Amino acid sequence: MDVLADPAQAPTWLHEHGVSEVELDALVAARDLLQAVVRGTAAADTLGPLLRKAALRATATTAGLSWDLDVEDAERGAVRVVLAWDALRINSPGRLRTCANHECRRFLIDRSKPNTARWCSMATCGNRMKARRHYERTKTTP
Ligand SMILES: [Zn+2]
Repeated sequence: MDVLADPAQAPTWLHEHGVSEVELDALVAARDLLQAVVRGTAAADTLGPLLRKAALRATATTAGLSWDLDVEDAERGAVRVVLAWDALRINSPGRLRTCANHECRRFLIDRSKPNTARWCSMATCGNRMKARRHYERTKTTP
């Protein structure tokens, strides 16, 4: 289940999330790197190349600071997801993880008290994985 890899579904997802189609390739690359970083199979410095042309510029306003992302249009979505990951890493350590369904490319933010959530969605991945485990258990029973 990879909505961004499906040419029939990707345009709808991009539109719903305010991302232009020129951002898709870099966004998918950033997501895949972040999956490895969040799983612990890659170090965070592997994200460096995504940020090499990006800069945040602060402007003082009457209410505080306003931050503008200065980056090429095609890389805007990729940089935004890396910034979002970093904010979660700082503000909610240990709460961002990848979905336990290895066919799924989504992340989840665990807001539960025991911090044991495994699925991006119980309605999709959770029930699908439970049904698969049930099938595998009953299939091997004589
Ligand atoms: Zn999932």
